[in-house]
Order: sequence, then C-alpha cells, then structure tokens
Amino acid sequence: MADKYTGGCEHVHTHADHEPIDNHTCHCSVCKSVTGQPTTHVMFFKHGDLKVDGKPKMNRQPFNAKNPEGPLELLTCEKCGTPIMLDDKQSRIRAIVPNLMGFKPDKAATYHAFYDPATGVPRPSDGRAVYEGLRLEFVWPKPS
Ligand SMILES: [Zn+2]
Ligand SMILES: [Zn+2]
Repeated sequence: MADKYTGGCEHVHTHADHEPIDNHTCHCSVCKSVTGQPTTHVMFFKHGDLKVDGKPKMNRQPFNAKNPEGPLELLTCEKCGTPIMLDDKQSRIRAIVPNLMGFKPDKAATYHAFYDPATGVPRPSDGRAVYEGLRLEFVWPKPS
C-alpha cells in the first residue's frame, strides 16, 4: 500500500500511514522566527506514526532558540540543510511544516493556534476556530 503522506528531501525520506492528530495554522512567535512566514501550517503526528527511512544523517537544533531546554528539536538534513521535522525529545509527537519539509499532501489546517491579539495581527476571519493555544480537546499522546 502506498504511504498516505511522504516528505523530506533528496537524502532523507519521511512517511506516515496515519492521519495527523492535529493540523493547525500556527501564529506563535517561534514558528514566525524559524520559518520567516507570518503563519505556519503545522501537522502533528503521533511520534511513532511519522517514520524516517533508514538512518540518514540529520542535524538537531532546539526549535526555540530562546528555550534550548524545550522539548522540540528541529531536524535538518546534514547534506542539504532541508528542514525535515520537529522531533519531540519526550517522544510524544513529531511535527511537520508541509510547505517547508517537502511533505505531501498538504491537507488544509482545521483551526488557528496560538493566536495572540496583542501582536496587533487582525483576528483570522476565515471561519475556522481561533485559539490562543492548541485547541482545547488536544491531548498530548503518551511518550512512545
Ligand atoms: Zn508555532
Ligand atoms: Zn537533503
């Protein structure tokens, strides 16, 4: 059976056979500074559901440079520098930014997360729910 989702670069291949457990448009300042985009489409997969083929060499760096002890690390391809995924040190989730991580299909986000009115950005009015964090029903999976 073909993989539902595939991503990565020429050197690193990721895939998932299950749907993401969360799929949002992120408004947080960390995503903004890392991606350079005003908002970032992020898909969360259960840690064990997003797989990497083989053992390609990847560089790890803290996702949030201001919080290097935080749980999320950004993995980039050692050969070409392409961002591959965000890996959770606690093995709960792996997160993908489809448009930067070669990830397909890029299924539209279901809601807005980490919207902060204090930034002065107008509240999104596309009809999707807007939260100041993750959606309330979201539960972090147990470490795998
Ligand atoms: Zn974010
Ligand atoms: Zn590469």
